[in-house]
Amino acid sequence: MAETYRINEIFYSIQGEGIHAGVPAVFVRFSGCNLKCPFCDTDHSSFLEMSRDEIVSEVKRHKGVIVVLTGGEPGLFIDARLVSELKDTGKKVCIETNGTCALPDNIDFVTMSPKDAFCSNAMPVLRRCDELKIVYSGDNNPADYDYIEATFRVLQPCDTGDSLKNEKLTAAAFEYCLDHPQWRLGLQMHKLLNVR
Ligand code: SF4
Repeated sequence: MAETYRINEIFYSIQGEGIHAGVPAVFVRFSGCNLKCPFCDTDHSSFLEMSRDEIVSEVKRHKGVIVVLTGGEPGLFIDARLVSELKDTGKKVCIETNGTCALPDNIDFVTMSPKDAFCSNAMPVLRRCDELKIVYSGDNNPADYDYIEATFRVLQPCDTGDSLKNEKLTAAAFEYCLDHPQWRLGLQMHKLLNVR
């Protein structure tokens, strides 16, 4: 079990994505990922080594009803004891994962966003999650993930960095959800608001 964890940042904001969009949340961003997605906007190079106690006390300093373990790929680094001590703060522990790592079984809410349509060696090993979030590029098919059991299925248009392309992808995702109502449209609220 790791004695310290590579933490890129811990900050308090509003969750901008998925079914918790709008919920005040403490984000614990781990540094490092096993994949290299072409659209990745995470800085994997900078981090602080923090102990479990330091992470928990930093999380405690903030209000908010959920803690979101994110990255990078948090599944590479976390363990059941860290999750348990974060739960002891009274906050619900959520994770955002690419699904390629087995996870501790005491996490309250798992959001899986498979990246195998964009990267090699990215097939998910998880077969179930609370929320399945597919980044829609126009070339990938959300139905390819029918084999994953999920309470919520969210289709999120890819942020390509090109506003015209983004507009077309959002319109296509909108139509897809109308035709396949088991999916809901997910927009990145923090980008619309220009906050973290
Ligand atoms: S899985 Fe997420 S953090 Fe990892 S490279 Fe892809 S977008 Fe970046």
